[in-house]
Amino acid sequence: MSGNLVEDIQRLKVKRKAVILAHNYQRPEVQDIADFVGDSLELSLCAAQTDAKVILFCGVDFMAETAAILNNDKTVLIPDRNAICPMAAMLPAELVQLYREKYPNSKVVLYINTLAEAKAHCDAVCTSANSAEIVNRMDSETVLFGPDWNLAQYAKDHTDKTLVPIPKFGFCPVHILFNQEAILALKKLHPDAEVLAHPECPPEVCEVADFVGSTSKIYRQALVSKARKFIIATEVGLIHRLKKGRGDVTFIPAYEEAVCAHMKLHTLEKVYLSLKHMRYEVTVPPQIMALARNAVDVMLETRETLT
Ligand code: SF4
Repeated sequence: MSGNLVEDIQRLKVKRKAVILAHNYQRPEVQDIADFVGDSLELSLCAAQTDAKVILFCGVDFMAETAAILNNDKTVLIPDRNAICPMAAMLPAELVQLYREKYPNSKVVLYINTLAEAKAHCDAVCTSANSAEIVNRMDSETVLFGPDWNLAQYAKDHTDKTLVPIPKFGFCPVHILFNQEAILALKKLHPDAEVLAHPECPPEVCEVADFVGSTSKIYRQALVSKARKFIIATEVGLIHRLKKGRGDVTFIPAYEEAVCAHMKLHTLEKVYLSLKHMRYEVTVPPQIMALARNAVDVMLETRETLT
């Protein structure tokens, strides 16, 4: 190590022919050294298009798995293997199978926030940016949708299909923390502010928001809006990217403690060690990979209409 971690990471990145992808919820310093910062869909697309030999994924388990599914010729690394998504863990593959047996005539759409094994049992994957569009593409009246109950409610409002949330109440432990009263109180203090919320928030929070969308959609809305102040109802990490994109306006977190501890496990030092020791490799067994890839491809095929 030279004493300058950022330079060391850049040097190793060239040596390993690596690309660094960071989710919008990563620590500011990790976002700053990444080649690309974005949401699950953007990072999936980026992972699918890169010609790098190594993908260093600063995100949680299911994201790195998705990168591995889309790039079976590349090495995918995650700096800290404890970075899991608790919501993804709420819907194991066995549970998807049980629901399939219970609703034999239904299609299954799973949020990208699921593990590869669960994806292998679904008909299509979606992100928060395209949940309703993907549900609408299914050729069944009833669609099983999981694991996020809140996102299921949001998708329900944009489709005529009957949506059955699986499991009964899956949730993101971070977005569940937002509440309507706190946002209304903030709106009173800042009546000129626009409220931008993620659809993983409870429906009553989305109800009082001026705009509801994925982190990439929130980012784009902040770039084009005429508002000078924004109340942000999603994980606080996005605010770093928002401030870089629009330094001329004010961003107010709707809840300052909305922090995904798993996302924050990756540090610059771990990024460095990951590239140095080529650890921790994320792999998906071939038979699961093929099935999960089909479900991810259904989502990617619709990307032109989604961005
Ligand atoms: S913010 Fe929520 S959904 Fe995203 S990784 Fe963390 S726990 Fe999972």
